[in-house]
Amino acid sequence: MIPRPPILSTGLLSLLLGLASCSQEPLQPSLLVITLDTTRADYLSCYGSKRSRTPAMDGLAQSGVLFERTLASSAVTPVAHASIFTGLYGPGHGLRVLAGKGGDRLPSAATTLAEMCDQGGWDTAAVHSAFPVSRRFGLDQGFQHFDSFEGKARIDETGKTTWDVKNLQRRSDETVDRTLAWAAEAERPFMLWVHLWDPHDPTLTPPASFMQGVPQDGQGAYHPIRLYAREVEYLDLQIARLLKELRPLAGEAGLIVALTSDHGEGLEDGMARHGWGAHRMLYGEQINVPLILAGPGVPQLKRVTQLVRTVDLLPTLTQLLGLPTPGGIDGLDLAPLWEGSDAYRNAVGDLSPRAAYADQINGYDGNASMVRRRPDAAFQFVWVEYPWKLYWRPHQPESSELFNLAQDSTEEINLLATRPRIAHRLLSALAERKPWVTEPYGAPDDVDVEGALDALGYGGGSAADDPAGPQPYPWKWVSVSEALGLPAAAGDATLPIVTKD
Ligand SMILES: [Zn+2]
Repeated sequence: MIPRPPILSTGLLSLLLGLASCSQEPLQPSLLVITLDTTRADYLSCYGSKRSRTPAMDGLAQSGVLFERTLASSAVTPVAHASIFTGLYGPGHGLRVLAGKGGDRLPSAATTLAEMCDQGGWDTAAVHSAFPVSRRFGLDQGFQHFDSFEGKARIDETGKTTWDVKNLQRRSDETVDRTLAWAAEAERPFMLWVHLWDPHDPTLTPPASFMQGVPQDGQGAYHPIRLYAREVEYLDLQIARLLKELRPLAGEAGLIVALTSDHGEGLEDGMARHGWGAHRMLYGEQINVPLILAGPGVPQLKRVTQLVRTVDLLPTLTQLLGLPTPGGIDGLDLAPLWEGSDAYRNAVGDLSPRAAYADQINGYDGNASMVRRRPDAAFQFVWVEYPWKLYWRPHQPESSELFNLAQDSTEEINLLATRPRIAHRLLSALAERKPWVTEPYGAPDDVDVEGALDALGYGGGSAADDPAGPQPYPWKWVSVSEALGLPAAAGDATLPIVTKD
């Protein structure tokens, strides 16, 4: 949380901006951040999708910069969103799991983009489509208006606790309606986060008139992949409406638009390749996400091919908005990548290649009962130095993987045994970050969260099934070389693993 200078209260700032607006437009552009829940980059036509057409997002990309290779920090909704809005990976911001006291809430000490905009004089608001980005996870910090979901339990006549799912998610058309209602009354400049969720949920489908041609089975259920593709198209339709209505409201200073996803989804190809069709894993289908930027200060018709991360969004936006960028964050300003001219390179030297990090702490997440079906998914850490991707499983080192993404973009050929020096380099980089979680989190301090997440299909209600919650793993600290089964090397970092003996 940013301490507010005593003379710069919201009221005084609003008064000053209000006086300024009597004579001239504010100089600062407004900002719209759109996060698409559970939306893979390769389902947008500007990323090459043949299954879905997304003309609004394609048009946004043409009016700005599209980043072809963007990695999310996690495949769990609040964890990944916390990275987008702090510029920090999970170990830095502290929100690591969906359910677990001590790890399931963004600490108030975190500094968010909304807090910086709020302090800088922007009118801040968030309008959401589902519970996992609610106030409960600490993602409301800095928002003057926060359209959150509050889960309410209901006890039926048999004593069973149930959840009114309708109160925990909404379709994108309703979210956009609520956004535009807020924006009509907003002060300029405004900072707005819109979270859209349709592809996450197979029961909250677009209107029947939009679903014509999508095959259904005998029970009326839509074909899951065709439904997913059509839901992405429905998002696109709502984004078109949102952009058309919102741009005039930003005034002459203009509107910066940033669009990304928190994570992707395994779907049928992920199931075929890696045996998993949902999220909570870290293959490309789960963490390759779209990233598009457009508006004042952003060039048109650019595509950036270098590896970037969703943590890079915050420092890029603070630069565009003229706000100070917090020190010590993981993200880096993206502008040098789209500027990219020889003159720029000569001025600043070579651009440092970006490594990317992602994690899943499923083994200590009270909501991740999927680890019973996928024990290899309990603890996952990814380190990417393109083209190399290390997929490290410290509780099962022998099932870890190393991929060459340039030759194997679908991550099917494990080179861990045949490229030990590469594996050692990447695992050393990972170990030096010390991202490990070796103690279980406490039981969630509000059982309502468990019920709400289960109602949304988050995977099985482990707290109800196992009241004791996740159990400790028998960690043993070893050197990087020992973890990889290599001869001892001087200067090795250490890390925790679980051995079979
Ligand atoms: Zn999500």
